[in-house]
Amino acid sequence: MPAQRLRVIGGGLAGCEAAWQAARLGIDVDLYEMRPHRRGPAHLSDRLAELVCSNSMRGAALENAVGLLKEELARLGSLIVTAARESAVPAGGALAVDRERFAELVESRIAGNPRIAVHREEVLDLDDPRPTVVACGPLPGDAMLEAIDRIVSQVRVEGDAPRRLHYFDAASPILAADSIDETVMYRKSRYEKGDGDDYINIPLDRDQYAQLLHDLRTLPRHEAKAFEGDTRFFEGCLPVEEMADRGDDVLRFGPLKPVGLRHPVTGVTPHAVVQLRKENRDGSALNLVGFQTRLTWPAQREAFGRLPGLEHAEWLRLGVMHRNTFIDSPRLLDERLRLRGDRPLWFAGQITGAEGYVEAAACGAMVGIHAARELLGRSPLAVPPECALGAVVAHLQNTVSHDFQPANVTWSMVPPLPKTIREKKLRRAALAERALAALTLFIERVEAP
Ligand SMILES: Cc1cc2nc3c(=O)[nH]c(=O)nc-3n(C[C@H](O)[C@H](O)[C@H](O)COP(=O)(O)OP(=O)(O)OC[C@H]3O[C@@H](n4cnc5c(N)ncnc54)[C@H](O)[C@@H]3O)c2cc1C
Repeated sequence: MPAQRLRVIGGGLAGCEAAWQAARLGIDVDLYEMRPHRRGPAHLSDRLAELVCSNSMRGAALENAVGLLKEELARLGSLIVTAARESAVPAGGALAVDRERFAELVESRIAGNPRIAVHREEVLDLDDPRPTVVACGPLPGDAMLEAIDRIVSQVRVEGDAPRRLHYFDAASPILAADSIDETVMYRKSRYEKGDGDDYINIPLDRDQYAQLLHDLRTLPRHEAKAFEGDTRFFEGCLPVEEMADRGDDVLRFGPLKPVGLRHPVTGVTPHAVVQLRKENRDGSALNLVGFQTRLTWPAQREAFGRLPGLEHAEWLRLGVMHRNTFIDSPRLLDERLRLRGDRPLWFAGQITGAEGYVEAAACGAMVGIHAARELLGRSPLAVPPECALGAVVAHLQNTVSHDFQPANVTWSMVPPLPKTIREKKLRRAALAERALAALTLFIERVEAP
């Protein structure tokens, strides 16, 4: 008897990757995407796998947990990471992509896969008993939110009642490259990484930095709308004004850190540095790195237009603020990201609280494999905890914290090595080596007939 078809709700990073991996293992997939009929507040196009904000998939090196995660995904034949590498634009030590080219590659590969049928249709409930992956992202419509609420509230959870949480994310502004005055800036990547000039740096002296702090603290901000509830930010993606509020030096030790950015001509390290990074392949659009914000649009023009060289900047997109929703995964999902209980229902992507593009794709890859194995009647396989993939799962299984919050993948989520290797870089290289060895065995088991 042929295996059942798998239904995937959401054609974002997680959903596309889940569909791809399940199809690779021989499962026929129905992939549902509600755009163009209905579009959430963060999406701008009708493309599958749209990157809703930055074009960066963060660090590329293996000593970086997210760099390792990308390498592991690539070895699993990941649709998302392969397309990202093929559409890469220069970004120092990071993997950043031309977002149009990236989405084009993902979409054409999904369309060309005979096992995946794409349905441009909004799924309104979860009553259908078919095996289903929920990869609806952090901003699904009300009907889907209610459906998720209904289904998770039926799960028996020890201790606290299951609950749906939310917080706010903020997107940073993008400006036209030909509208800046580069004569007051200099090109350099921190610590000379990448091609060395992937970033355009705006040096700030003490007074200019103080002016920026003043503006961020005093100019008007968007108030949260009633439907957005209380304001809870993800610590790894704080609005720039929130960082300014937290202390005079928080920005100087954060996104405006001048370390490794000594001026190439004067040799002086500025008091603080604002960085611009290419947003597309030809560099015609630049991202104001780390300036995710909830300042009002006029306030953003005023504050950021006072930065040296940005006096006449043409803003292609200003920062915006979004609600972001996720479930209480540690209490609701098992280690295969399957809802506890009898329903063949998996969750993948940001809705689980796995924060970040690569983490969303990682959830999708794992869920695609787990669901396919179940539908093929194969024994369950645990993802090795030593891997970065295992680290993503570890966070989603962390019941220690009562207040589950989204998180990016970090080294703190993998089992530590014996303390013999003292030097951080060497220790991380050893962690990566251990992870890739474990992954090789995992892949052999996944691909065994
Ligand atoms: C505003 C914002 C900015 C972010 N910026 C970054 C960033 O810069 N870097 C980073 O690494 N991460 C960022 N994130 C976090 C996260 O990585 C992204 O949200 C990522 O897109 C999550 O992938 P996903 O596949 O889970 O969801 P999505 O990419 O949102 O995909 C979900 C898809 O499901 C579709 N869908 C939803 N409901 C239904 C339904 N009922 N029926 C059919 N289709 C449906 C949606 O249209 C969408 O295409 C950001 C998140 C937000 C909200």
